[in-house]
Amino acid sequence: MGTASGISQADLAFIASLVSLGHELSHAVRDTHGRLDEEHTPHGRGAVVDHLLAGTLAPCPQRRFSVIITHDVDRTTLCECTAIAKLFIETRSRTLRSTIRSLGVCGSAIARTIDELLCFEADNNIRSIFFFLSGPYSLARYGSRTSARWGSAQGIIRAVTAAGMEIGLHGSYYAKDNGTYADECRRLADAAQSSIRHHRNHYLRYDAEHFWRHLSDAGIAFDHSVGFTTGWGLRTGTCIPYPVYDISAQALLGIIEVPMLLMDGTWTQQFNRADMDSIRTLMETVRRHRGCVGIDFHPESLATNRAVWDCFRRIIDICRELGADMTMSSHTPLQG
Ligand SMILES: [Zn+2]
Repeated sequence: MGTASGISQADLAFIASLVSLGHELSHAVRDTHGRLDEEHTPHGRGAVVDHLLAGTLAPCPQRRFSVIITHDVDRTTLCECTAIAKLFIETRSRTLRSTIRSLGVCGSAIARTIDELLCFEADNNIRSIFFFLSGPYSLARYGSRTSARWGSAQGIIRAVTAAGMEIGLHGSYYAKDNGTYADECRRLADAAQSSIRHHRNHYLRYDAEHFWRHLSDAGIAFDHSVGFTTGWGLRTGTCIPYPVYDISAQALLGIIEVPMLLMDGTWTQQFNRADMDSIRTLMETVRRHRGCVGIDFHPESLATNRAVWDCFRRIIDICRELGADMTMSSHTPLQG
């Protein structure tokens, strides 16, 4: 049976189950971090929802093909005991003394990398979002390795704000278990001296049942957590930001989910021509649907591996060649 929009009820139900993550929830498969297992997405990694809707709904005339450049700031300094331990383990042939000496050179590497990023993005007409873990600092296995109250974090927040970029909350690994989103938002808002509207969870540890309700209660307007931790693709089958549906309350929440197209990872350290061709093809699909998607590169990865920088620049080149708006301007759905 058809609907007024010309799309069948079966297709509408399929779309609803994808964008609400209901289909993944029904599989109940979780990975070691308690996340819905991305190996069990029901539709692959393409724009299946957008293909189904094409021609049935009139696109908003003001919508433009947009890419939101984002950076998760997991650390604000390498002069921190877990970073020192990591450096010492990775350079076992060195003595502890030489490791500590090298920290004098690279301890502020993340702040310097972010300065370099800000210059690069200004030159490329990019307005980006920097997501900060707000703390408190923790030595727990997946705890926050920085705090919004540290001088290193406040210096970076000042630089990012002065460059006209957006500050967002990088919700901590344990936030959804402990219900700390509002506290984390307040700590970051105090440090940034502005309200916090954007969010992405550390480890993309979202939860389709309660996660968005917590964010809504914390005053978040845009979430950027739904994507794949490996490679690239469209987790909910769409490249168009959409209002979040709360499955438990069976109601729309006042949050817009912005699909994340790709994030850096081990693949960025050894990417090849085929990877770039595949990303370009996916970007062309986003352009065809006048979509708006996020990409994520960690300053820590950029600071420690030039190959990741090379990958980032190539992806920005693809975005520019395809005419993507990377300014978060008033024409993108982020203002919607
Ligand atoms: Zn993170």
